[in-house]
Amino acid sequence: FPDSEPLKEPLVHGKKNGGKRIDYKAQAQRLRAQRQALPIYSARQAIIQKITDNPTVIIVGETGSGKTTQIPQYLLESGFTVKGQTTIAVTQPRRVAATSIAKRVAEEVGTPLGGRVGYTIRFEDCSSAYTQLRFCTDGLLLREILADPLLRRYSVVVLDEAHERTLRTDILLGMLKDIQRERARVARLNRDAVPETAEPDHRSRGTHMKFDNSGDQGTSGVGDSGTRVVDETHGDVTGLDDLRIVVMSATLDAERFSEYFDNAPILYVAGRQFPVSTYYTTTPQADYLDSAHLAALQIHMETPSDSGDILVFLAGQEDIENVERLLVESAANLPNGAPALLPCPIFAALPQAQQSKVFDPAPEFTRKVILATNIAETSLTIPGIRHVVDSGVHKVRGFDPRVGESLLVEPISKSSARQRTGRAGREAAGFCYRLYTEADYAQLAEDSVPEIKRCQLSMVVLQLKASGVRDVLKFDFMDRPSKKALKHALLELYALDALDDLGELTKLGKWMAEFPLEPTYAKVIYASVSAGCTREAIDIVSLLSVDSLFYVPADKRDESNAAQMAFRSSEGDHLTYLNLLRAFNKVNGDKIWCQEHFVNRRNVKHVLDVRQQLNRLCTRLGIDTELSCGTDLANVLRCFLAGFFHNCALLQPDGTYRSLNGSQIVHIHPASSLFGKKTPAIFFDQLVFTNKLHARAVSAVDAVWIAQAAPKLYGRMLATSQK
Ligand code: ADP
Ligand code: MG
Repeated sequence: FPDSEPLKEPLVHGKKNGGKRIDYKAQAQRLRAQRQALPIYSARQAIIQKITDNPTVIIVGETGSGKTTQIPQYLLESGFTVKGQTTIAVTQPRRVAATSIAKRVAEEVGTPLGGRVGYTIRFEDCSSAYTQLRFCTDGLLLREILADPLLRRYSVVVLDEAHERTLRTDILLGMLKDIQRERARVARLNRDAVPETAEPDHRSRGTHMKFDNSGDQGTSGVGDSGTRVVDETHGDVTGLDDLRIVVMSATLDAERFSEYFDNAPILYVAGRQFPVSTYYTTTPQADYLDSAHLAALQIHMETPSDSGDILVFLAGQEDIENVERLLVESAANLPNGAPALLPCPIFAALPQAQQSKVFDPAPEFTRKVILATNIAETSLTIPGIRHVVDSGVHKVRGFDPRVGESLLVEPISKSSARQRTGRAGREAAGFCYRLYTEADYAQLAEDSVPEIKRCQLSMVVLQLKASGVRDVLKFDFMDRPSKKALKHALLELYALDALDDLGELTKLGKWMAEFPLEPTYAKVIYASVSAGCTREAIDIVSLLSVDSLFYVPADKRDESNAAQMAFRSSEGDHLTYLNLLRAFNKVNGDKIWCQEHFVNRRNVKHVLDVRQQLNRLCTRLGIDTELSCGTDLANVLRCFLAGFFHNCALLQPDGTYRSLNGSQIVHIHPASSLFGKKTPAIFFDQLVFTNKLHARAVSAVDAVWIAQAAPKLYGRMLATSQK
């Protein structure tokens, strides 16, 4: 870190742990019995056989049956990879799941994390040339296709949590289907070509004709397991073999996946489930955060502390932090003699060490309350849970062409509610407290709508384009997004100059696709190069990657606001955040200082991580990341408009703000430094829908800049308004 921030622990967790050497083999030995006790263990042979015999297999198994942690290991043990050459990828929709599952599997395999088993997520790589089992996010694998169009380094891709139907899972399904077909075709051509060009025993010399465009590569034959046997004399991945796809889902409706993959076989794995008593509230709850806090406290006080831990489902990081704060306070004021209460939050921006705390057994006479989002619904199985508190909500992305994308907190589906309930009955009979009425439950939708049908598509359309999909309207989607949404994305990319008049990817578009960011942010960084403020642009983009930089305790709202004033910029939140980061760096993130200023220290530390990764990526692309505009910060805001011209609103004579692209009324979020101020034009980072549309992270700009940033869209508007 440039600001003398001490480096965190090395990514490859070495042999030391508090000075002690870890005996990995012994650890794996200890976990072996646990592995063999999992329901999936008895199906091991059948699973391997099915995957050997079929290019694609769908596996359905109840949450906790062992799909995620075991099946990749079975493949590893059965020779589906070749050391140093091919890898098995296991994708997860969420970063936290990818990292914590990799950690667990490395322990079970008996190697240090980052060795044989590793993970790669956005902004963090914990894998090496030796990695044979790589856990990653689905978004990350999608980006790898840009560099490796046939994903040749992978012999198997396991698409986990497919039932969640996240946007990226859906796109990945389509891409993988295509890659599988292409690799099978190339492999067939190569096999067919062999007899005409060379004697079979020359095959391993690689002398026969190749149809593969990647240069000098070894060839392969089909081994007895049906998987690749690679010519050891050639160091490169052959890439000639078929790609195996394993789709894993926790819900029973697997036929859709099977149909999509040409009637691929479905394997059902039985789970183990104890009965769970479910309770509803008698009246609707006005504030689910308060109710969640009270419910957890009540369970703790009214049931023996050795009757299992509590898992609370909430909508997002902010919710989790709020309930955590309430619980910490209550935990400090428990009656004498009562067992201790230990809140354990888990979300992506939390450092690894704290994330893994949720898996550690609670100390004696202490009960854990795990505060989680959907992630604990099916992705992670946390041992020891007997009580579940279900808020009934989750956070989803919503898209309306008139307003763009917004985040909303919405009721979950029945299917989610059932999954949440099930988490209480994994080890023994359990209890589930739903913070809504039974009548409300009856009103819930059966299933959630796949994300692809309700969110902004510009980032994935850019990725599809950059991966060589020319006509995205004809892409083989499992669930087709609306034409309107696709066209909207194409138009947005056109306005960003990522696509040209013919809809072809531009050089800039290709460049933007390199970034693991929404195209809007990539465009900001691009604009900052010629404006000479790359350093500030990267700082602010990193700052916007976390949910909240400050915390506002309910009982100290005024003090918190007063403390934030120290960083306030009259131009709005973007520069306010920048001021905060500069001040934070000056004091080296001092803990007391953060407390006094109500600064969310762990989130700002996460910002520093993101910034470091973005700096690295930019440096690789030949960008000088130290280009700074010093105090002339207006330039930075103009750069933001180069990406965010869609997220603008103008002040109306009646005092409201209306969005430029859809004339919707938007309100400045109460947490914004511009709240209550009237400036003629604003742009914002995000829209959040609660009871009305709120713009978050807002800055004041000159209306003329907006038009200059997007002449294709607003040039005419500007001309008329200036008349
Ligand atoms: P599935 O993918 O079918 O939902 P998993 O493979 O994630 O199941 O989990 C299998 C079992 O492994 C769980 O029941 C849990 O007991 C155990 N397990 C998984 N992760 C951890 C962990 N980090 N610490 C301890 N136990 C774990
Ligand atoms: Mg799983």
